[in-house]
Amino acid sequence: MRKTFLVFGSPKIEEDEIQEVVACLRSGWISTGPRVGTFQEMFRNYIGTRHALAVHSCTAGLHLAMLAAGMGPGDDVITTPLTFAATANAIVHTGARPVFVDIELPSMNIDPGAIEEKITPRTKAIIPVHLYGRPCNMDRILDIAHRYNLIVIEDAAHAIEAVYHGKKIGAIGDMGVFSFYVTKNLVTGEGGMITTNNDAYAEKIEIYGLHGMSRGAWKRYSDEGFKHYQIVFPGFKYNMMDLQAALGIHQLKRIETYLQRREEIWNRYDAAFRGLPVIVPAPPEPDTRHARHLYAPLLRLEELRVDRDTVQQELHRMNIGTGIHFISLHLHPYYRNTYGYKPDDFPNARYVSERTLSLPLSAKLSDDDVEDVITAFTSVLEHFSK
Ligand SMILES: *Cc1c(COP(=O)(O)O)cnc(C)c1O
Repeated sequence: MRKTFLVFGSPKIEEDEIQEVVACLRSGWISTGPRVGTFQEMFRNYIGTRHALAVHSCTAGLHLAMLAAGMGPGDDVITTPLTFAATANAIVHTGARPVFVDIELPSMNIDPGAIEEKITPRTKAIIPVHLYGRPCNMDRILDIAHRYNLIVIEDAAHAIEAVYHGKKIGAIGDMGVFSFYVTKNLVTGEGGMITTNNDAYAEKIEIYGLHGMSRGAWKRYSDEGFKHYQIVFPGFKYNMMDLQAALGIHQLKRIETYLQRREEIWNRYDAAFRGLPVIVPAPPEPDTRHARHLYAPLLRLEELRVDRDTVQQELHRMNIGTGIHFISLHLHPYYRNTYGYKPDDFPNARYVSERTLSLPLSAKLSDDDVEDVITAFTSVLEHFSK
């Protein structure tokens, strides 16, 4: 058995980041300053949009994106229930109502064929989530959005490197929102980015994200001379710090190398788990690039004597940390009680909720770590097989 606990989603931080954070501290610009500017510029170039606006988190970014697009009380926003709570919570924060549409299998992304029946005159937007890094069917989602005049905000928290039909994820909808939380493909501790080609949205996001001030604080105190700010909206405090951007600048330079490493691990897992009572992730759809954020096979419960949670606990006992992404939001008390959802309302999302188990997948993993995961997972599943 493995001697030390393998932490799930542990980030790879290298010497460049450490030196940059030290330089940032010495510079005195620790909140929003030149490093945020550099990081935004690099990210804009990587995604290929006119704007990339750094924020404190993807949650903050989703909230701002919706506010910039005018979402509020009386509006409906369509999204998937199989996502992190932040996607739907941010909808609630604007005053709008989240309307869930079941996922399709095996992609586990929102089912485009089930969206139209949920559209009403209240519907203002669709938030597709590129789950685990797999691009949603954006052709069909954009087609629906155009026909019903809906805004599309991509939740790209898992999908920085993803590509769909030659276009980068985050550059396809009206806006894209990324996460740099500590377990994500690029980490700044906490952090997020909003991408868009729309100048009006970008301007609103900048203003709403910093108190509703008409000019950025760091510009006010720079050597261009003092300028009075004007409050034009009761905005939020969502700005990214230079301390965060110091990490992001170097993480972004290595994003493709890290993806390659995760792809290697992914393929090793796929090969090792053939013959086990699991459904391994489907291969990427044609003409797409999967960002390989989470490797989450589904357990074939029909062939096991125990439930998923027992398998997870046994893996933890064997020093392998894992995650669950996700328990469908319609099964959580707030969403169940507020909107009256029943467990069977989204059968595919429920099916995945009960079976999904995310195994460690980080560029930080050594070959030995990967073999430890394979050994433990194989022995646990063989032990619990019927
Ligand atoms: C992590 C995550 C978020 C929220 O990201 P934060 O940066 O932690 O706010 C939103 N959506 C999805 C799908 C996520 O996995």
